[in-house]
Amino acid sequence: MAESIKKRIAIFGSTGSIGTQALEVIEAHPDLFEVEILTAHTNDKLLVEQAIKFQPNAVVIVDEGKYEKVKKALESTEIKVFAGESALDEVADFDTYDMMLAAIVGFAGLKPTLRAIEKGKAIALANKETLVVAGDLVMQLAVEKRVPVIPVDSEHSAIFQCLIGETRNKIEKVILTASGGPFLGKKPNFLVNVKRDHALQHPNWKMGAKITIDSATLMNKGLEMIEAKWLFNLAPDQIEVIIHPQSIIHSMVQFEDGSIKAQMGLPDMKLPIQYALTFPMRVANDNPRANFKKIPVLAFEAPDIKTFRNLGLAMMALEKGGNFPCILNAANEIAVWAFLNNRIGFLDITAVIEKCLQKINYIEKPNLSDYFESDGEARNFAASLLNI
Ligand code: NAD
Ligand code: MG
Repeated sequence: MAESIKKRIAIFGSTGSIGTQALEVIEAHPDLFEVEILTAHTNDKLLVEQAIKFQPNAVVIVDEGKYEKVKKALESTEIKVFAGESALDEVADFDTYDMMLAAIVGFAGLKPTLRAIEKGKAIALANKETLVVAGDLVMQLAVEKRVPVIPVDSEHSAIFQCLIGETRNKIEKVILTASGGPFLGKKPNFLVNVKRDHALQHPNWKMGAKITIDSATLMNKGLEMIEAKWLFNLAPDQIEVIIHPQSIIHSMVQFEDGSIKAQMGLPDMKLPIQYALTFPMRVANDNPRANFKKIPVLAFEAPDIKTFRNLGLAMMALEKGGNFPCILNAANEIAVWAFLNNRIGFLDITAVIEKCLQKINYIEKPNLSDYFESDGEARNFAASLLNI
């Protein structure tokens, strides 16, 4: 009996920062969860380790060249092994799980997430790019299929938590907090010389490489504004960004009477991950607690959009809608990849995105294949700019 009430979780992107922390949450609550599916891009070693430990029904290694290795390592188990990008869609179609944790990074997460929603599975959504690219279609399908999309992103989890008990009350605005990243207060003459390893040192959060660079450029906050629009059905002017370097307030909601609710805690993704997996329940854990005697200051300042121009570009894409956020996202993925591979400088990231937004045709009401096309066009154009 106890066995049957465990929530069966499919972790897409289990070898990443969110994926590994989710497995820690699951390990701490063996009475609540069971791991059903694990997927990885290229890290076969960690995928196999995770599979042996958590005994899922199936694993996917997207890199087909690693299939034989994974298959062999798991040959003495019952675990089914799949390989290739299409296998992600195939396992997303399985009946045997209850909730997908969408923790793949980038556009690659969109298709399997749509498949899971199509199948009526609850979604714990870390992969913000899914909503940035096609938030209209994703949320519309979720409504049609009556599927809950529960945010994992800490800001959106904060807003989601602030909205509990407020279903009849209108949101005046949401206030997304941003740490400001490692280059808070810096100007272009400093940023022009910034290197990858410095940009990868985030002051408050330990995350995957792509989102860490996005946090340093403030693109992450821009993507989060677009994510908030779709999750909470907001107009662009209802979404405000404020720099809060301590990352204790994870975001706030202001209601029509001027009252503001905030959700707080130490910067630790295990809390929003756990909350998305256990919602509507709060479950006890041993995570470190915030001690306000040791946090003397909660500071706030306006973001410097003139210096961190990616945020301004994202605000423009949010305002304009259509396929603009999709183009912005694709160009950003290519530019961040190039920066991580030391092909371009920090400020070039913005230049690439700006050129793609100028070049690729605007579509006001794209369908899914338009989004795939715009994504491909923007990637190709960005790559051509970078000679890659
Ligand atoms: P990560 O790079 O650490 O991990 C990414 C995961 O996705 C890995 O398991 C990898 O194998 C898989 N993956 C990568 N490319 C893939 C592809 N093309 N096809 C299939 N799988 C692929 O990233 P992360 O930091 O865990 O972030 C995951 C998502 O969660 C991102 O969308 C990010 O914006 C969001 N997010 C992360 C954090 C955080 O603290 N890390 C916080 C908020 C939101
Ligand atoms: Mg966030």
